[in-house]
Amino acid sequence: FCSEPKTFHSLRPAVPLPPPSHPLSFPVFALSLLPSPLPSHPALIDAATSASVSFPAFFSRVNSLAFSLQDHAGLSRGQVAFILSPATLDIPILYFALLSLGVTVSPANPAATPAELSRLVRLTNPSIAFAVSSTVSKLPSNLPTLFLDSPTFHSFLEADATFPSPSAAIEQSDVAAIQFSSGTTGHMKAAALTHRNFIAMTAGFHALQPSRSGPDVNLLSAPMFHSLGFFFVLRTVALGDTLVVMDRVTFPDMMRAAEKYGVTQMTAAPPVVLAMARSEDVMRQDLSALKRIFCGGAPLSEDAVERFSARFPGILICQGYGSTEAGGISRMIYAEECKQQRSVGRLSENLEAKIVDPLTGEFLSVGQHGELWVRSPAVMKGYVGDEAANAETFDAQGWLKTGDLCYIDENGYIYIVDRLKELIKYKAYQVPPAELEQILQTSPEIVDAAVIPYPQEEVGQIPMAFVVRQPGSKISEVEVMDYVAKKVAPYKKIRKVSFVNSIPKSASGKILRKELATYATSAPVSR
Ligand code: AMP
Repeated sequence: FCSEPKTFHSLRPAVPLPPPSHPLSFPVFALSLLPSPLPSHPALIDAATSASVSFPAFFSRVNSLAFSLQDHAGLSRGQVAFILSPATLDIPILYFALLSLGVTVSPANPAATPAELSRLVRLTNPSIAFAVSSTVSKLPSNLPTLFLDSPTFHSFLEADATFPSPSAAIEQSDVAAIQFSSGTTGHMKAAALTHRNFIAMTAGFHALQPSRSGPDVNLLSAPMFHSLGFFFVLRTVALGDTLVVMDRVTFPDMMRAAEKYGVTQMTAAPPVVLAMARSEDVMRQDLSALKRIFCGGAPLSEDAVERFSARFPGILICQGYGSTEAGGISRMIYAEECKQQRSVGRLSENLEAKIVDPLTGEFLSVGQHGELWVRSPAVMKGYVGDEAANAETFDAQGWLKTGDLCYIDENGYIYIVDRLKELIKYKAYQVPPAELEQILQTSPEIVDAAVIPYPQEEVGQIPMAFVVRQPGSKISEVEVMDYVAKKVAPYKKIRKVSFVNSIPKSASGKILRKELATYATSAPVSR
């Protein structure tokens, strides 16, 4: 599976995809995978209210909404819709309706601050926003907004309409979604993912259908605006599975919902697996329907897997690895792969990889540690309007540089060794250090600052700031943390501070983060 020049190929049979030039939207592709007549079990269940939407009702609402958005809101192919909403049953319907029209879906985190959101709005240039009464005030006031909790929107869902006929056919290369990621360095960027990207990711899962015993009931801990949650919404509908929809996913609520709705499959970030391995309350829950947990977004320790497996021998822990930019890279459906505990799985179908020496650029072979580069139909089109970032992220042959230090063993299993890129993952959420450094530098009390990831088991990593105070400044650790906390979404808060005399930098002025990491003391975390 490793050919010259040192290119690794998936060991799985290639999954056939529609010809790229064939016009096709994701919703039409999804419908082509589903049986006719459509399944009668729920496509969606609201965990809070038990309200459900069957597959026929789901597609009927998608049709009505797409028709209404085209007819009344004038939405059409090529426009961008910004979404700022909690997770509700209407969100998957909205995603499918917008995709049916060829409108790009750009969902953002409702916990973001108005300043953070106005930057994302500038990046994506939407023609419309969808929000709810509680989130609308965070959006720029000049952005036309449709309220998801308004009678108008509900009438759009119920409109008596036939499937809309978008004025122009949707190409697979059309941008389906814009997702936010800082990539390997710097600020949040707008990653454009095409209909073909989602078709390719879903086709890989669909190829495994014959090995499944029936539809799964899925529960996501990843929010629907995150790249993983967004893809899972699309994939769950396309495969005829049920999705249990939860907003503000807390651990006890997740466990209660898993029992109540007979959840068979969960996607979870490492803190959820850790909590399941430790919590006493969870042992009182009947989780007998649960067959597997896909765990990804951040590293999961071997110890956590062992503790979990000792407690729940009937539940497979399947680690997965992917990124906003690269789509699903390795997949872990096969039971035997899940047992390879330290690995994040094997290369997905249709995926090629290289392991590249970060210093020399040399292509490496089996067992050698280097940066993982990937190429596949699931890899994003690029960052919107950021040619410099695209040039840094892709090489001339279209290889995407993941910024992750990995190796691949002789059986094709991938192991993540470290992160080369400047990224902190707090509970699998992205926290870009550059953003926090820039905020710290706006304080009149601070001369210079650097932010690095600091390991903390329950959450993965916390942002830790190294701060050089202005001469005479008495700003305290808590005041530094508060200064930033007021300006960012809660998951980006700085949670540990160390005062230093200077920030170590390379000759070219780059912060020497690894050097700072070795300075980081093991003193108790401040907050
Ligand atoms: P995101 O774009 O937010 O999904 O973040 C992607 C990044 O998260 C990857 O490039 C990795 O650095 C990290 N990541 C994702 N899954 C894993 C995993 N299973 N183990 C270690 N790191 C992971």
